[in-house]
Amino acid sequence: MLTVSNYHYIRDDFTTPYPSIFGVTPTFFREQLLAIKEIGTYITPQELLTNYDAIIKSPENYVLITFDDGLKEQYLKAKPILDALDVKALFFINSINFIEKEVTLVHKIHLLRSQMSTPDFFDILKKFDTEGKTRLSDKEKKQAVIHYNYDDEETACLKFTLNFKLSLQEQHRLIQSIFDTHFDSNQVVNDLYMSEAQLKELAALGMLGNHTHSHVPLGYLDPEEITKELVTSKNYLEQLTHQEIPYVSYPYGSQEACASPVERIAKETGHQLGFTMERSINTGDEHPLLLKRFDCNDLPLGKNQKAFEHAHRLIH
Ligand SMILES: [Zn+2]
Repeated sequence: MLTVSNYHYIRDDFTTPYPSIFGVTPTFFREQLLAIKEIGTYITPQELLTNYDAIIKSPENYVLITFDDGLKEQYLKAKPILDALDVKALFFINSINFIEKEVTLVHKIHLLRSQMSTPDFFDILKKFDTEGKTRLSDKEKKQAVIHYNYDDEETACLKFTLNFKLSLQEQHRLIQSIFDTHFDSNQVVNDLYMSEAQLKELAALGMLGNHTHSHVPLGYLDPEEITKELVTSKNYLEQLTHQEIPYVSYPYGSQEACASPVERIAKETGHQLGFTMERSINTGDEHPLLLKRFDCNDLPLGKNQKAFEHAHRLIH
């Protein structure tokens, strides 16, 4: 069987004026790698690719570590720890950060929200929105609170507006305008994402994967757009590194984001292993292009480690 653990931000200090960037510290990462070692055996991406059937059907718990979004801090903070423990991981990259030198939408939102309160962010959003799409009716406000029941009302309404009231294009346009008034995009791209030299080094180690071109949920796109998202980044990474990239991780990774025909197109475009965010252990019943994956918080020492314990109990 195969357990996959996924990571995003990794930094020593997550302090910002308004907490909205979450992840793990290098200390936690190292301790978690050691804790996972107690319950499994690390495999390399190449080993999984070559011995796929044997690994996934084995009673032994094999473990693969992955990172989404191509953040420079992953290379600087996590890779030295991986090297010291002799663990090879997969790092999934969006090519928009390199080809267009643009910051990914979700990172723009994280950065903006780390610097301003939710009411302030909402006010600016309304100011930039000339079509009144960010004004919610009482009924929509109620829907928002029900849908985002873990958040306070203001945050629920903001998330509802971004995710349900605005089209993807409107979200991109509005957030871009706001982002440009607060941040220098070039500077953020340089600071936040890996360099091409770092991508090449990871590829030479067999540790590089595709996270699509622009980090949109593929399942909502039409087949031509899905193909373009997968191929643009795959081609970019392969031409840059002169290595084949057979691994893909789907942005957001939810059932909707990975809905059919995403796995078929991923296969047709030359991918062999695909990773979702369906939290469970892989035991051989799943499509190789729809492998399940835990968030690191679901695994030993994580805030929600019961998720893994539960999945593990179901198997044993
Ligand atoms: Zn991502």
